[in-house]
Amino acid sequence: MKSAFIYSEVFSQYDFGPLHPFKTARAKIVNELCHRYNLLDRPWIEIIKPGPLCMEKLSLFHNEEYMRLLENASSGTFDFAMLGCGLGTDENPVFEGLYSMITLSAGATYLGTELLIRQGFTVAFNVFGGFHHAGRSHAEGFCYINDAGIAISHLLQEGFRVAYIDLDAHHGNGIQDAFFNDNRVLKISLHESGKTLYPWSGYETEIGEGVGKGYNVNIPLPQGTDDETYLYAFSHVVPPLIKAFSPDIIIGVFGADTHHTDPLTHLNMSNYSLREAVKSIRDLSPKLLALGGGGYNLYTSARTWSLLWAVMNNIEPEDTFAGLVGGMMFGPELESGSLEDAPLHTTGAEKELAQKEVERVVGYIKKTVFPLLGA
Ligand SMILES: [Zn+2]
Repeated sequence: MKSAFIYSEVFSQYDFGPLHPFKTARAKIVNELCHRYNLLDRPWIEIIKPGPLCMEKLSLFHNEEYMRLLENASSGTFDFAMLGCGLGTDENPVFEGLYSMITLSAGATYLGTELLIRQGFTVAFNVFGGFHHAGRSHAEGFCYINDAGIAISHLLQEGFRVAYIDLDAHHGNGIQDAFFNDNRVLKISLHESGKTLYPWSGYETEIGEGVGKGYNVNIPLPQGTDDETYLYAFSHVVPPLIKAFSPDIIIGVFGADTHHTDPLTHLNMSNYSLREAVKSIRDLSPKLLALGGGGYNLYTSARTWSLLWAVMNNIEPEDTFAGLVGGMMFGPELESGSLEDAPLHTTGAEKELAQKEVERVVGYIKKTVFPLLGA
């Protein structure tokens, strides 16, 4: 086993502004927690510094004209065409250093693919990636460049079979839209239902088109879905489809915004679900490229990503600060005392409704998608 923790301290120097939910400090805090819990100092782990991605490689997924608009926006030149591409809104503000930030993030994800296909790595993790809402020529949902889309395009070009598993609380619409007609990449997204959450898409009936029919799988989750219901959906759908498709590489977007404390979403899960799901994905992956995705409760998300890094490497987090008293406690420990939450199993009417709805969706996927993939 050889695994890469892709990290640059530069990630956390950018700033979306004080009122924006996306906090770049995530990278720095995950790095600190991984050191603190002794999750990096292992013989098979390398910490690798990324560089920015060049225009030629960005164009694997993006329209060049759009990339130039982004570059100009970042240097302070205003152009009305920017508004048409979703730039300069509250959601996708234009700020100093924007272009360097997004090309560095894309560079980190691209580097992950290269480490997997050329350097013998089996796991690569970029916590500052997974910007799955960006389109080929527009920004939306805090995403300017779709690093996962670039990674998929790159791997397809190199002839690999790719499975994309999106666990972020929001539907991975940018990836679905770009590869809807493609049977070389299996796309599976588990997310809060579009009835209650942006991007208002990702229904189970969106199963792909043309040769891509059956290669796009959505599991919309009702508000209040807990760990038990989530893992019911995951275990019934993901392992059988991945086994049937048999990918060379899995790309995972492990958004921490499914957590019940996340300010933007309405699920009722702890990080136990993600831990179990990622354990299963790790065991199903010949090679795994993991991306952070969303997560807007800063400390809880950082704690979750650190836990997932431990899971990907099959190691138990150990608190190297344990025993020290006074003044050493910060963020995550105040709420939990460890990286990991206890499973959240709820009861009552909301839970019963959610479970029933998820059983219906799973039944639909088994009936319509499974036969198309021979699962
Ligand atoms: Zn999200």
